[in-house]
This record gives sequence, structure tokens and C-alpha cells, in this order.
Amino acid sequence: MHKNGFTTTILHSDRRLSVEHGAVHKPIHTSSEFAYADARELAAVFQGKAGFTYGRQGTPTTTALEAKITQMEGGAATVSFATGMASLAAVFSTLLRKGDHLLSSQYVFGNTNSLLGTLIELGVEVTYVDPTDLDQVRAALQPNTRMVFTETIANPGTQLADLAGIGELCRERNLVYVIDNTLTSPWLFQGRSAGASLVMNSLSKYISGHGDALGGAITDTGLYDWASYPNIYDSYRKGPSTGWGLLQVKKKGLRDMGGTLSADSAHRIAIGAETLALRMAAHCSNALALAQMLDAHPGVTKVHYPGLPTHPQHERAAALFGGRFGGLLGIELADGIDCFDFLNHLQIVLNATHLGDTRSLALPAAHTIYYEMGPERRAQMGIADSLIRVSVGIEDQADLLHDFDQALQACMG
Ligand SMILES: *Cc1c(COP(=O)(O)O)cnc(C)c1O
Repeated sequence: MHKNGFTTTILHSDRRLSVEHGAVHKPIHTSSEFAYADARELAAVFQGKAGFTYGRQGTPTTTALEAKITQMEGGAATVSFATGMASLAAVFSTLLRKGDHLLSSQYVFGNTNSLLGTLIELGVEVTYVDPTDLDQVRAALQPNTRMVFTETIANPGTQLADLAGIGELCRERNLVYVIDNTLTSPWLFQGRSAGASLVMNSLSKYISGHGDALGGAITDTGLYDWASYPNIYDSYRKGPSTGWGLLQVKKKGLRDMGGTLSADSAHRIAIGAETLALRMAAHCSNALALAQMLDAHPGVTKVHYPGLPTHPQHERAAALFGGRFGGLLGIELADGIDCFDFLNHLQIVLNATHLGDTRSLALPAAHTIYYEMGPERRAQMGIADSLIRVSVGIEDQADLLHDFDQALQACMG
């Protein structure tokens, strides 16, 4: 009887065993390919049966994380990606075609703005509107409008879209409604509650929370019926029609474009996600206290934070997010205070891009993340030259307030 050699035995030992062992954490499955004892089973998985074939299209580790995110969003299904941008690129490029019209918030994240520029080059029509004003959104609809896109809280101006109003409008007009929920996270807000068709989350931000992993996810809320949506290929018109859109995003977007979340990152994100609620509560209460302190400070002329009663959409935020207002604020400094000097005087807060980290991070928005788009578009987005974006961390509150105060005092001389 034939006996396999040393190398063959080692190469094939793992798949003969159960690798789960009752482990509390989903193991980091690094296998690129998945083998089957029966070739018919392999074919069945290729033809739609649940299972794994090649790691670009998912592993047990990413699938476990997707299930977690689906539960967080109260959705029907989720597909994960290497980054938030990969997930947005997949949605826009696989569900829109040349000649289609996309209505977008004018306040979107800088890289999303740049991505939409690429879509325009490829023949998609894009109109930017102020999503806080439902009348503007309604007035901008065209016969070829297929999709409406907005973020929940805009960054760094903190404008708050009329999320529920837009949802109702999209339902009436049978439009796909995509919400970027990154700034709120599913703990503050579920896109489904406002009628979203698809919800995007950058997993790199609050959901992972520790600045040690990149990822993105698209969650299908199950609310949109794709049966009448013209851009779905025949191969993806399978199963209940509420699932066709996400299936196409997974096949055309994840499989063909290849922006796959690694198992290692999926594992870190899954661990981080365990404390999302605890961290968000601390981010929100620290941000509110800091916003109130800065609002009353002579060194600051303007604080953008939905938790302040003077914020234009304060009431809407209070109603939608259960009395919490997120962890991001924008501040404009008094004349004569140089934003770079101020940032350099902060001792706890890091000069860094990114948001949703446990540590507080700050940057001069016009000179960094919004530099590339130029002064005209910055003015349209309400980004002043002195605007500082702060991602408020979970440090002890008194330490944070003290740090901002001492830095302002130092600059005021
Ligand atoms: C960071 C961010 C993204 C992109 O996510 P990445 O994971 O960094 O690619 C998209 N939208 C918003 C609102 C973001 O803050």
C-alpha cells in the first residue's frame, strides 16, 4: 500500500483535521484555495452552493466577520473588502453604467469625491447636492437617476443628511439608496432604519477602532427589490430578487476587481468590533464635552458638532442617533492663531489623519485631506482654511479638555 512522503504528509495534514477545535475566536484562515474530497462538491460551490473556492472571494474568517457586520446593521447580508474605498468603488462601478445618473451629497469624504470624478470620466453623470435639504435632493432627480448616495455625518463639517427623508423619496421613486455609515457606525445608526438599500462601513474606523487594520463592508439591508433594476446581469438574477444587487457587487466587484479583505485583518477587525459599543459611548461623551468647552473658548470662533444646540441639524441628530452625536468635530480658530502652531502645542492629541481610533487625532483639513480638491471645491464643501478636524478618542475626559485648553492658551500668548 502506498504511503505518502514527509512533505506530502505535512502539506496535506491540516485539511484532514477539524481546525475549529471549539475555538472562541474564528481562526485566521490563511488558505488561498479550498479543496474538496468530491469534485462534484467543488463544482456545486462554483455554481452557487455555500462554501469556499479561492481566497479572493472570501474565507471562513472574512465570512465570520461579514456575519457579525450583518447583525450589527440588522441587514440581510454583507460583503467585505480590503478597505472602505474598495467597497465604495465596487458598488459604484458594478451597479452604475455609462449614462446613468448618481445623485451624491456634496460633502462626501475627499477620496470618495475623487472616486466619483473617475466615474464621471467613465460616463456616469454625477450631481452634487446638499443632502441636509430634501427639497434640493428632490429637485435634482432626473429620469436617468439610478442611485442616491450620502454619508450620515459629513466630515469635517458635520452636516447631517436628511437620512429618513431621502429614504422615503428613494422608496417612492424606486431608487437605490446607498448610505456611508462610517462616521456613525451601526451602534449609533442603522441605515435600514432610514430605508437604505445598501450600507457601507469603513471597518478601518470605529468598527475595528484601534488603528491596526484596514477594511470595508457593504451590507444589503434587504429592502430594495432589484427585479426592476436594469443593470443586473442575467447570471446574477438568481434567488430572491432582493439579493441580486449584492450578489453582483460580490461577483463583479470583489471577485473581478480583487480588493479582498485579508484573513488577518478580518480577525483584528472582529476582535475590535467586540468593544464597539463601549468605545462609541466614550467617543461620544468626550466629543460632546470637548465641543462644549471649545464653543465657550475665546481661542475658537466656530465648533462644528451635531451635539451643540446651535448646530443646524441638532434636532435631527438627536432624533436619529438616540441622543448621541458621534466622535468627530471641526473647529475654526480665532484670527491670529496659526492652525499649525496650535496643533504642534497639543501634547496628547496626535497630528495624524484617520478617525475612529481610540487615541485622539487632529489635522488641518484644508492643508491635508482636502488639499487636492482645490480652493473652489473646498469653499463649496464649507472647509475653511483654519478648519481643524478632530477625531476624539477615548482618553480620560479631563486630560483631553486640559490638552486643548493649554494649547490654545499657549497660542493666545
Ligand atoms: C475613511 C472613510 C472612507 C474610506 O475608508 P478606508 O477604509 O480608509 O478606505 C470612506 N468614507 C468615509 C466617511 C470615511 O471616513
